[in-house]
Amino acid sequence: MRQDEIDDIETDAEEPFLQEYTDQLVRRMTLNGLTVEGFSRAAMQTYWRIPELKLGFDLGAQPWSFMGTPRWFISHTHMDHMLALPAYVCRRRMMKMEPPVIFLPEQSVGTVRRLLDVYTRLDYGRLPCELVGVRPGDEFELSRELVVTVAETFHTIPSVSYVIWERRKKLKKEYLSLSGEQIRDLRLSDVEVTNEIRYPRVAYLGDSTAQGLDAAPEMYEAEILIMELSFVANRHRGDRIKKYGHIHLDDIVARRKRFKNKAVIASHFSVRYLDSEIENTVLRRLPDMLDGRLTLWF
Ligand SMILES: [Zn+2]
Ligand SMILES: [Zn+2]
Repeated sequence: MRQDEIDDIETDAEEPFLQEYTDQLVRRMTLNGLTVEGFSRAAMQTYWRIPELKLGFDLGAQPWSFMGTPRWFISHTHMDHMLALPAYVCRRRMMKMEPPVIFLPEQSVGTVRRLLDVYTRLDYGRLPCELVGVRPGDEFELSRELVVTVAETFHTIPSVSYVIWERRKKLKKEYLSLSGEQIRDLRLSDVEVTNEIRYPRVAYLGDSTAQGLDAAPEMYEAEILIMELSFVANRHRGDRIKKYGHIHLDDIVARRKRFKNKAVIASHFSVRYLDSEIENTVLRRLPDMLDGRLTLWF
């Protein structure tokens, strides 16, 4: 669809108003008011979003239904994690949505900017978006309730993981017995009566060796962890996995006690496996599926 075909469509809605298309595979899971939608397979494509938080991770493809999500966190610039960036930005412009905000490793910002410039010339259309470079250790405020932190991962190119925290104000212990009036008086005299409490709600690992989990312990604490598990078979054990910067089932088995998450979504399986081989191998090694919290997403 070109710009001149849609000029008469008026909307300020964030969510797409067009009919749903099943142009990409999208699986869904809901937990405690958060929906995870997406799909990931190594070398093929990776894309996730949490519609309630108005954010997504990676842009290997962009299902038509995803375009209403206004900010995206890119783990790294491998093709299968970023190829749909120009299409996503372009669609939002054509649908008269706000330019999106894209977070990505800071080393990649300049090159991605050039990529968008080249595409602007090929498409004869602007690609308005804000690119925000991130480094491990960074923290960004997304709203009054939401904060994102960035951590180091271990892959073959610059890459990062993200944790989305919900924050709330909680009355300090020493003031719990006070009346509403007394608390108000303290507030008026500029006393800080609350502490900020943070809960890690969603962690996204991107592509990494298991070192990326260990480098950010909140990965193990987040309500929902979305992680890669590229290799499961014994024949793919060993150093090559580490060299390619991926996780093997052995790494999960060795760390099984550490996962405190309510849901662990394992995905990004190598295309060398049939789904049945993945399922059978994981069930053999982890028969309780981390007490039923582990979901294999393929
Ligand atoms: Zn990948
Ligand atoms: Zn990669």
